[in-house]
Amino acid sequence: MTIDTQTPVLEEAHAALLAEITPEGGERREILDPATGAVVGHAPVHTVDDLDRAVAAAKAAQPAWAALGHERRSELLLQAADAIDANAEALAHLLSREQGKPLNGPNARFEVGGASGWMRAAAATPLEAEVVFDDGETHAELHYRPIGVVGAIGPWNWPQMITVWQIAPALRMGNTVVVKPSEYTPLSVLALVQVINTVLPEGVLHIVSGGRDVGAALSAHPEIGKVMFTGSTATGKAIIRSSADTVKRLTLELGGNDAGIVLPDVDPKAIAEGLFWGAFINTGQTCAALKRLYVHDDVYDEVVDALAEVAAAMPMGVGVDERNVLGPLQNRQQFDIVDRLVESAKASGARVVLGGEPDRGQPGYFYPTTLVADIDNDHPLVAEEQFGPALPIIRYRDLDEAIEMANGVDVGLGASVWSSDRDTAREVASRIQSGTVWINAHGVVHPMVPFGGAKQSGYGLEFGVEGLKALAVPQVVNG
Ligand code: NAD
Repeated sequence: MTIDTQTPVLEEAHAALLAEITPEGGERREILDPATGAVVGHAPVHTVDDLDRAVAAAKAAQPAWAALGHERRSELLLQAADAIDANAEALAHLLSREQGKPLNGPNARFEVGGASGWMRAAAATPLEAEVVFDDGETHAELHYRPIGVVGAIGPWNWPQMITVWQIAPALRMGNTVVVKPSEYTPLSVLALVQVINTVLPEGVLHIVSGGRDVGAALSAHPEIGKVMFTGSTATGKAIIRSSADTVKRLTLELGGNDAGIVLPDVDPKAIAEGLFWGAFINTGQTCAALKRLYVHDDVYDEVVDALAEVAAAMPMGVGVDERNVLGPLQNRQQFDIVDRLVESAKASGARVVLGGEPDRGQPGYFYPTTLVADIDNDHPLVAEEQFGPALPIIRYRDLDEAIEMANGVDVGLGASVWSSDRDTAREVASRIQSGTVWINAHGVVHPMVPFGGAKQSGYGLEFGVEGLKALAVPQVVNG
């Protein structure tokens, strides 16, 4: 593996961004590149005291921010999106080095583009007060008022884009925000916030780069009215508990174990690339990635072969090498989870069609693109969220049984149905227990299309008008 040298200008922009977000002094933590083990930078380690100061400052700034009104706040968010665009390459390189995802493919540059795109959408989406009832006597309107201070706790897989998903609607609706990034990817989010803060008034957007203790304190903080959380189901449950005493509003985007069901009428070659990216986007480290693939017996072998052909051609390696579209796992724990699940699948007699043998001598947490066929539905690689580049492919003969298997887990973020007949696919979709069902695609999100989970994948919707409403207190004005 070789690393392409970057242009000096970019190196400079990158170094300047790092210097700004990690000033000397205070406790700092070394952040290592998951692809090479090289030092990316040093993140400040903020404490619960820092959190308290940030919340107090956010609270003080909130009335003036709310008083600016929708139009002015939207203008500022559009300027923030421009600032992200202007710094896109430096942000993408830092993200690539810290998170591991390649610059190209649906990865780092795509993520930075998404961050600015979602910021623009939150700025541009109209949200008017609604007249909910009027009979001449009673006149009732529903208004959407700011909540106050919003806390945003994020994961390490799409750190910049998810931060924008959380903060853009919050800011647009007149709230001020305190961000708590994942301890695995703090630099990417510190840099993003730094860039956004070049245009926002002081005090409106804060970042506290701490660990789980800071996340726990944030979700119990009496001055925070709502927590936007994206992360694991286990942490989501902890947040529900710690937010109970202050009756916080919550949007919880939690773990998933998305199923894809391939019907017998598909053209295997035509769907193979869609299946591949559905499962392997961000090297499988995506909440709504395809994590279990159910394929009808009639087309099973052809689908497995077509998928293997696409998968084998996708280059994996160091993210800043322009050729790669797949990267390492972000951290050792995640590598170990994927490794354990695949090893146990092998031991159970499942057939490894591709991958399954990591090069344990090479630096970085690289796990090869892995397809595991002829695996039982109750195997842990199917039943648990692997969150990495190892897809189990289960054979089915009866559609009812496939739907039952798809619904047989306690999470329900996304799902997909693959068929040449849209009506049949929609009928199958109506029987699946998940927040989204895609047809002939998987994991595609759009800033105007609501996104959220069913079952233990969480509650609350993000994006579009529904997403704005979720960052407001509905108030009825009656009379
Ligand atoms: P995680 O739950 O371990 O950590 C997420 C964040 O929560 C981190 O910032 C962490 O510091 C913080 N945290 C940890 N303990 C806390 C506590 N007790 N109180 C408050 N905050 C606490 O998740 P992760 O490993 O970073 O992310 C991977 C998981 O996130 C996967 O399960 C994935 O499916 C899920 N995810 C879901 C979505 C979605 O939209 N539904 C999107 C991305 C990731």
